[in-house]
Amino acid sequence: MPAKLIDGTAIGRAMRTELLPRIAELKHRGITPGLAVILVGEDPASQVYVRMKGKACEEAGICSETLRLAADTAENAVIGEIDRLNADPRIHGILVQTPLPKHLNSARVLHRVDPRKDVDGFHPENVGKVVLGDPTGFRPATPFGVQHLLLKTGVETKGAHVVIVGRSNIVGRPMAALLIQDGPGGNATVTICHSRTRDLPAVTRLADILIVAIGKPKFVTGEMVRPGAVVIDVGVNRVADPAREKGYRLVGDVDFEAARHLASAITPVPGGVGPMTITMLLYNTVQAATQWAD
Ligand code: NDP
Repeated sequence: MPAKLIDGTAIGRAMRTELLPRIAELKHRGITPGLAVILVGEDPASQVYVRMKGKACEEAGICSETLRLAADTAENAVIGEIDRLNADPRIHGILVQTPLPKHLNSARVLHRVDPRKDVDGFHPENVGKVVLGDPTGFRPATPFGVQHLLLKTGVETKGAHVVIVGRSNIVGRPMAALLIQDGPGGNATVTICHSRTRDLPAVTRLADILIVAIGKPKFVTGEMVRPGAVVIDVGVNRVADPAREKGYRLVGDVDFEAARHLASAITPVPGGVGPMTITMLLYNTVQAATQWAD
């Protein structure tokens, strides 16, 4: 039987609706949550993401502004803009869109964001809080979104063996930190794999829940999926497709056609994790505004 499709578009939309009363309550107290997005350069995928984030904010009644800087902007100028936004009382969340141009030191730039406004959860203070299970820390939007996809789909993480493929700071590592917390959407037994993992298929086949974030189109084949597993595909890869107007289409890191006949549930790409990332960014912005006000 083909896997149940985990519809991130629908779950994300429902969660954004659930957020509206919290935004209304803040506005009642005279606070409009504000998000600033800094985009350096013209990376086409980043431009799309930034537009989608702005649109989602607008629909939710969150005030958003996008600061577009030229690709060759000097590091001290980017940092100057972050300092300005750190001091701006209308702005509760600041997001620096990655990847940044090569001449910028990503850590130096990202860590300049005031941890209280770091809605991406990349500042070491928030990384530490998330590892410690401190709810005032900001959980990075993509793994936070994956956790909610599992919760909303009724996938039990307690006691489950979750195998995560990929150990990046924005997906794999925080994903593991969230799944081992003692609470809903946690209490899992987690294995993290990366490019040096020996016999990767043998490890992925042990997964009750397989989460893949490596950035390689259709890398995970059917042989790597245990029958009945839940498969979460974080990957977003552009592959050439002359039949499409744009000349490309998006595929995940998992061979969807092969995996969907084995998995019990699976996320599509697009329409799986992506919409949840944007949704959780809005949640983090509301959290930031609330914490700022309290
Ligand atoms: P990174 O490039 O930062 O990290 C990739 C990870 O995959 C690394 O840990 C790397 O291992 C591991 N890896 C690479 N090749 C292999 C392999 N052959 N076997 C096992 N592990 C491997 O990627 P990101 O985490 O930033 O992104 C991953 C994917 O998720 C991308 O497609 C990206 O576009 C997508 N993404 C989607 C989001 C969404 O909202 N849907 C948000 C963020 C990312 P090592 O550390 O050893 O090099």
